[in-house]
Amino acid sequence: MTEQNVPILEVVNLVKTYPAEDGGFFSGLLGGVGQRIPALNGVSFTLNEGEILGLIGESGSGKSALARIISGQEKPDKGKVIFRGKQLSSMSEGELKTLRPHLRYLSEDAFTGLTNDPKNRVDRLLYDLIEKYPPSGGGSAREAASRMLHRVGLNDDYLTRFPNQLSGGERQRLAIARALMLRPRLIVADEPVSNLDLNTRTSMLNLMKQLGREYKIAFIFISHDPSMVRFFAGTGRIALIFAGRIMEEFPARELFSRATHPYTKTLLEVNAAPSPLPGAALDPEMAFSEMERVDANELHLDSLESELSADGNIAASAQLSAANHQGCPFYRWCPERFERCPVETPQLLTVTRRLEEGNYIELAPEEIEPEHRAACLRYIDQ
Ligand code: ADP
Ligand code: MG
Repeated sequence: MTEQNVPILEVVNLVKTYPAEDGGFFSGLLGGVGQRIPALNGVSFTLNEGEILGLIGESGSGKSALARIISGQEKPDKGKVIFRGKQLSSMSEGELKTLRPHLRYLSEDAFTGLTNDPKNRVDRLLYDLIEKYPPSGGGSAREAASRMLHRVGLNDDYLTRFPNQLSGGERQRLAIARALMLRPRLIVADEPVSNLDLNTRTSMLNLMKQLGREYKIAFIFISHDPSMVRFFAGTGRIALIFAGRIMEEFPARELFSRATHPYTKTLLEVNAAPSPLPGAALDPEMAFSEMERVDANELHLDSLESELSADGNIAASAQLSAANHQGCPFYRWCPERFERCPVETPQLLTVTRRLEEGNYIELAPEEIEPEHRAACLRYIDQ
């Protein structure tokens, strides 16, 4: 086995719900207090050492919930996260601490709002990490901090500054320095450059890519922006998430050529325009009545047409349905849906065929990409 084929992370059937805020949108929708919002509805994937997985999804699709669970900040309700052969979700705080240097989390602008307290000075923010997790090669904290700062394009002058004296780009360089300082094996980067202007963003992505390659770090790179994910994932993989489920995945280079799932295609088409996808307009009443009808088996595709052409963008309804019901969570918005879609839950399987005018056409062996999986009944054999 080459290093490339050694799994660093295995995510198995993750389910996560959050308590619905009292009086909030979800508690109304779900019928009162004590209800839970489904954020992840069975997410599974494997990542190898040094590999990059790009994760694309609309706002509210569960990306950050997944990032927090993988990086050990939150526990799932169900399912497993296995990092280098050990199950994270059953680890104690102490065990998690020994894992910290190897598994780092990077988010957008982590240092916003930090005061000029001495503990927040740049040197301290870096030294703390080194003191907590001394590098095996030895050397002073100052040397290590200074070396790392230079790697991210900042000089020693920055050691005595405070985050609120830095520009957004400089703060993000510092965040990258902190993420890389301990030579982790995996970085979970959740929208790490979304707050930056275009030029800074590009140089930040290049910097992360370059250092990641040099240190052979595996990445989970999360963004709602397909082009950015395509750029960062390079020769890695891309997965599309919707309503807490992975809908499609393939080698990153094939994002624009192989996208097959109607969700992926819709996302790519609308990327530049205002999104007609869930999250844009929430209509609790419509979602609620729809759920009742699903429960009573009264939901028919024909009657959905007119509702959808109104402003039926209901992220919440998709999440609930993914958590509680059979069927594809995307079928309400899907231009390619057919009779099986509301009643059968598609699994994430290799794309081997396509439905055309009511008949399945099997793909020729040379057309099949083994790493191309979709959770869509039109394209899989389940
Ligand atoms: P994304 O990062 O893709 O925008 P999130 O993972 O933040 O999506 O959210 C997924 C769903 O879970 C959303 O419906 C969101 O409202 C809900 N959610 C996430 N975190 C919390 C939380 N801490 N408390 C309550 N609901 C949450
Ligand atoms: Mg998020």
